[in-house]
Amino acid sequence: MKVLVLGAGVVGTTTAWYLQKQGHQVTVVDRQSQAGLETSYANGGQISVSHAEPWANSSAPLKVLKWLTQPDAPLLFRPKLDPGQWRWALSFLGQCTSAKAAHNIRQMVNLGTYSRGQLQALRQDAGIEYDHLEKGILHFYTNSAEFDGAMEPTRIMQNLGCDRQIISAERAVELEPALKPISNRIAGATFTPEDESGDARMFTQNLASRCSEAGVEFRYGTRVLGFEQAGERVLGVQTLCNGRHETLRADAYVLSMGSFSAALARQLGIFLNIYPAKGYSITVPVKNEEAAFEVSLTDDEFKLVYSRLGNRIRVAGTAELNGYSRKLDYTRCRAIVRRAAEVMPEAGCWDQAEFWTGLRPATPSNVPYIGKSHFANLYLNTGHGTLGWTHSCGSAAALADIIDGRKPDVDFTFTGL
Ligand SMILES: Cc1cc2nc3c(=O)[nH]c(=O)nc-3n(C[C@H](O)[C@H](O)[C@H](O)COP(=O)(O)OP(=O)(O)OC[C@H]3O[C@@H](n4cnc5c(N)ncnc54)[C@H](O)[C@@H]3O)c2cc1C
Repeated sequence: MKVLVLGAGVVGTTTAWYLQKQGHQVTVVDRQSQAGLETSYANGGQISVSHAEPWANSSAPLKVLKWLTQPDAPLLFRPKLDPGQWRWALSFLGQCTSAKAAHNIRQMVNLGTYSRGQLQALRQDAGIEYDHLEKGILHFYTNSAEFDGAMEPTRIMQNLGCDRQIISAERAVELEPALKPISNRIAGATFTPEDESGDARMFTQNLASRCSEAGVEFRYGTRVLGFEQAGERVLGVQTLCNGRHETLRADAYVLSMGSFSAALARQLGIFLNIYPAKGYSITVPVKNEEAAFEVSLTDDEFKLVYSRLGNRIRVAGTAELNGYSRKLDYTRCRAIVRRAAEVMPEAGCWDQAEFWTGLRPATPSNVPYIGKSHFANLYLNTGHGTLGWTHSCGSAAALADIIDGRKPDVDFTFTGL
């Protein structure tokens, strides 16, 4: 079957990989000049199965209110005259009950566990390098109330089979000596030895090369404008490349355009509750090998994640619900540098930070749309929010199964199934 994948981020590229493996003739379309140049470019790097806490939980509404006036807050909602933003925010509030949070954790952990297994098999199969480490994730808390609050999601994740260990500050420093400078401020931590980290951009671009070698066609510099449809079937995708309009046709279509999927789907009358949650990262060279970390870290109080990517350090986080602009806000950039330098002063060349910002395709529940749409030949693989890198391989492998009429081997609520 001829399949057109719309979007060459980590989600679209992994989808292309599994589809070509299953014998399909695949074309990937993207407006950029290479794969992985938008949200998959410089994310936090964590393959974070066992830290699948959705933003929406019972303590979120109060925290978001408190952060409304704080310009460097970890999660910032900037109200706009945009009905999409308000609809998203209201729906987010609806997800903030303990029961909904527990359900969403279950969805995310199940998909994450399956996805990590698929990633491990894929990297063997494709033999790709992406500065990955299998050293686990250590989540440290400098606020004891937040540490106490983490017990409930930790228990839910343990019940779902995650090896998430509750540890003391002393044990945290034993596992990752780079935390020594702030050891006396750590209230407690959790450690998940099975989690991983790695560079999503390197992974995506190297996988795109493997896909090309296997016969997948990548059409870069090609903007998707809309669809041609007849009844409940998509007949083609209207594109623009170098000033030339062209309608690309296939038997099936996969929508994987990250934060931009919703606007395109709306043209077909499909409502996807995806809103961009802008995040930031900094990347710096390692300064002192002895003082730098290898275990991937999560700094709970500042909602930052740290990953070691070869001889670089990536620190990422913060979320701003403020539309589609990717303009850098230097107050937020500087807040990340300040905190990272405070946690591990000697680890990185903090004065050489490269700043980046990306738009997480966030759903109110943190759970992505994977599966069928009401159009017979249009499939969805989008809305992966905070965990698109973690969930990419599993989402893609599952969608390839769905397209081939097989039931995916994971307990997850697929769209339209
Ligand atoms: C600061 C930050 C930190 C993060 N940290 C982590 C982490 O540690 N672990 C984790 O699992 N996840 C993390 N994420 C989330 C993860 O990066 C995303 O969920 C993931 O990259 C989304 O992938 P995607 O392929 O859906 O979207 P994208 O990578 O954005 O890909 C979408 C593609 O569609 C293309 N496109 C869009 N519109 C059009 C159009 N009209 N025509 C043609 N092409 C189009 C774009 O060019 C793009 O290449 C983080 C995100 C951010 C912002």
